[in-house]
Amino acid sequence: MKFSDLGLSDELSQAVAELGYESPTPIQEKSIPIILMGRDILGSAQTGTGKTASFTLPMIDILASGRAKARMPRSLILAPTRELAAQVAESFEKFSTHHKLNMALLIGGVSFSDQNTALDKGVDVLIATPGRLLDHFERGKVMLNDVKVLVIDEADRMLDMGFIPDVERIVSLLPPLRQTLFFSATLSDDIHKISHKFVSNPKIIEV
Ligand code: AMP
Repeated sequence: MKFSDLGLSDELSQAVAELGYESPTPIQEKSIPIILMGRDILGSAQTGTGKTASFTLPMIDILASGRAKARMPRSLILAPTRELAAQVAESFEKFSTHHKLNMALLIGGVSFSDQNTALDKGVDVLIATPGRLLDHFERGKVMLNDVKVLVIDEADRMLDMGFIPDVERIVSLLPPLRQTLFFSATLSDDIHKISHKFVSNPKIIEV
């Protein structure tokens, strides 16, 4: 299987080739075509399996047309820790060099003012930890009514860290008609139960 067989744009397949990726990993092979069809996903994959590219690549193509309004991101990726959020942002930047997509990273430990400047410019892809995103929301600096694609990454760690109530609050601020990609290292009974609050008729993908 080649990246160009997964339904990604030629431009993006080329960007991936330029990065030296020869073929998709199993999670990428299974997830990318389904995400491009617009379906929700309940994916189980550990770090190191290529999970990040399995959602960032199709999101780049989904978001390629359209423009973000100030403070109204078009997609949202929630990660449990600053480090993970920063890694996802790095991955996005690497793949989207040929695309005009604005990205912002909202994590703690960094001043609000740079993050506000980024939000004001209009953000296609917002990558955030739940607490910092809610801080911005309370201050009226971000609205979530325009989010078309939501990713919940490492849901099992969100659960362990006690972030699920924050995630629920954030999701209650999103339009109900959206695409949701839910990833967890393991799909335990608890995670299955929680996932149903966020996804609708998901395709289950396990690697
Ligand atoms: P992840 O599981 O998303 O943390 O990715 C683990 C590492 O694998 C990252 O350094 C990626 O850049 C790399 N990677 C992801 N997909 C591929 C691929 N199809 N071919 C080669 N390397 C990849």
